[in-house]
Amino acid sequence: MQKPNQRLKGQTCIVTGSSSGIGKAVAIAIGKEGANVIINYHSSKEEAEEVAHEISECKLSGDSIVVKADVSKEDEVKKIFKAGINKFGTIDICVPNAGMQQDAALHEMTLDQWNAVININLTGQFLACREAIKEFMRRGMRPEVSKSLGKIIHMSSVHEIIPWAGHANYAASKGGIEMLMKTICQEYAPKKVRCNSIAPGAIKTDINKDVWETKEGREQMKKVIPYNKIGEPEDIGSVAAWLASDESEYINGATIFVDGGMTCYPGFTNNG
Ligand code: NAD
Repeated sequence: MQKPNQRLKGQTCIVTGSSSGIGKAVAIAIGKEGANVIINYHSSKEEAEEVAHEISECKLSGDSIVVKADVSKEDEVKKIFKAGINKFGTIDICVPNAGMQQDAALHEMTLDQWNAVININLTGQFLACREAIKEFMRRGMRPEVSKSLGKIIHMSSVHEIIPWAGHANYAASKGGIEMLMKTICQEYAPKKVRCNSIAPGAIKTDINKDVWETKEGREQMKKVIPYNKIGEPEDIGSVAAWLASDESEYINGATIFVDGGMTCYPGFTNNG
């Protein structure tokens, strides 16, 4: 875990789906940079409270609250923002991270499976971004804490560019995030909003536990990772903290791939 150096002091951040995995690591990394954090959870209040506890253990970190909400529901996303603004005054950073998979071969995929993934992974990110941008514009610049009006960091995936057989709903949701992110950048960068994505490769979390928990699964995963290492959630947390800070001020409309080289087509290493 990176050392806290207060790059986000005085700012407030919402991280959706942050009671576990990547969202948890992002919430902790950003909290330890001095930001207040709204930890959104869907089902496990205990896990969300553990994240809040971990943030509070670092004496330089910001404060935090936990808010239950389903990110695919408009009124519930509004509830997350209302809770954050009531407690901390405004929102400076939004990390729409909540996501899930419901895998099936396309010819067997039900409309419910398609809709569930699109609603959470893509519509959920749209709803969070819309509320964030409204709040950034209502509040105006805060030069004492950041050079930008506000920062959005989408949690995308290498599957925004790598097709994924058996996961068409998931790949489509992440491909959609790429264009959502770039369009937000084009539309709101003139107002000084920064909107970027992080595209993780294979990171050890609950979402892919069935693969990495066996030796065979881990070996299979590593075959598509040139760096030969499965990522940890903290590998994403540290990049998110930097991307939220003024150190990355001139990065806008970009996807940062954090994937050990997965997007460098390792299948072509020995002549394809
Ligand atoms: P995870 O299962 O630990 O985290 C997903 C989180 O989203 C959970 O906390 C879950 O409760 C929450 N969530 C699900 N539905 C929700 C809803 N309707 N409302 C609110 N929260 C909801 O898995 P993770 O790997 O940490 O996934 C986080 C993000 O990272 C996802 O968007 C995922 O697509 C993305 N990602 C993960 C990997 C990986 O290898 N782990 C790779 C690329 C992208």
